[in-house]
Order: sequence, then structure tokens, then C-alpha cells
Amino acid sequence: MANPSRRILLVEDEKSIRDVVTAYLEREGYWVTAVADGEAAINAFEKSHYDLVVLDLMLPKVSGEDVCRDIRDTSDVPIIMLTAKGEEEDRIAGLGLGADDYLVKPFSPRELVARVRALLRRAHAGEEPQRDRLAYGGLDIDTAGHKVFLDGNEIDLTASEFKLLVTLARYPGRVYTRMELVEKVLGYDFEGYERTIDSHVKNLRAKLDDDPRDPTFIRTVHGVGYRFEHEPAEDE
Ligand code: CA
Repeated sequence: MANPSRRILLVEDEKSIRDVVTAYLEREGYWVTAVADGEAAINAFEKSHYDLVVLDLMLPKVSGEDVCRDIRDTSDVPIIMLTAKGEEEDRIAGLGLGADDYLVKPFSPRELVARVRALLRRAHAGEEPQRDRLAYGGLDIDTAGHKVFLDGNEIDLTASEFKLLVTLARYPGRVYTRMELVEKVLGYDFEGYERTIDSHVKNLRAKLDDDPRDPTFIRTVHGVGYRFEHEPAEDE
């Protein structure tokens, strides 16, 4: 459940979206401050502490892009960007600016709440001991023992596939670009290797019996990369 003390700054100039998102977040128990332009966002952020920022890209006065840069000058607060449909380059730029995640309009408020929860969990993960076991539906990952079970049966993964799966599964809902995955999984930094990630994902999906068109675990985020879909199992 949401920690009621978490404070969220919502920056959105469209009143209907602002009202709906505020209502959904408040229902989850978050404190929400909603502002309608970039200048108000910067002022609010300077005045108060926030645990997370939901930031529209196209804003009056100061753009979401500039607000994001301004916040990043002083803070690592998780930022979720909202972008209009089809602005694919903006999405990638959003991640490049230091946003942690993005959603394309029109989005479901439920989806936004799920992303907020996942990001807050990630941001505060360092405060709790690192989990040794990740469980999602039928998937069970023993990170310390380097073992993966699907419906109770052990699956044989290569070292790269294992790292890829743990990287994605540790922060469900978080979008990873191929480049980030190359660095985390393969440990080197060269553009030509981005497609290597695609083939690791393909092999991993085959072993997890995960259909890319209707994934249980790993979703392709077109033009960007991949994210893990599942919420943790209730019984963990
Ligand atoms: Ca807007």
C-alpha cells in the first residue's frame, strides 16, 4: 500500500487530466500538489519537499523539459514524464533528460498509479535490505542463488539472460532503453551491441514461454527498450 506520507508534485496544464490524476493519486493515499505551468512547478519544487514528480512535457511558461533539467540540477527525485501520442523522439529525449519513466497520452490513470508506486518503491529500495528473492506470478527468481523457477520448474538461463531478467524484474514498470540494458547486462558501451539485447530478450522470452504480442513478463516499448510487466506476487 502507498505510504501516506509520500508527496507528489503533479504538473499538467490540462485541467481534466490534472483533476483525474489528482483524484486517483489521492485515493491511493498520496499527498498531491497540482500546478498548471512550468514556472509554478519550479516554484513549488523549491519551496517544498516532494518524493516524486509527474511532469507534462508541453507546458505554458516553462516547458516540461526545462523543468526537468532544473529539478535535476539539485535533486534525484523520481520523475515521470507525460508526453503526447506519437512524440517518440520526445519520449527518448525525456529519458535522456533524466526522467525515470514516461507515459504517452492518452494513458490510464491506473497505469500511472502503478508506475508511481513502482518508482517510489525503487527510490526507497536502498532503505530496506536488498531482496534475495523476486516472485511474480509463476516466476520465482533467487537472485543470491542464481536460480530461476517457472511454475516450480528450474529454468536454465545463461549469465547474460539471468542478469537481464533480474535487471528488468527488480523494478517492474520501469522502462529500460536498450543502451541501459547493454551497460547493465553486458557491461560495455557500444551502439552496435544494442541489438544483442534484442536477441537475449528473444531467448529469455522463449525460456519463460512469454509471448511478445501478449507478454506476461517482458514488454517491448517501441522505439525505446523493454520493461517488466508484473507486480510482485502477494505472498512474497
Ligand atoms: Ca500539456
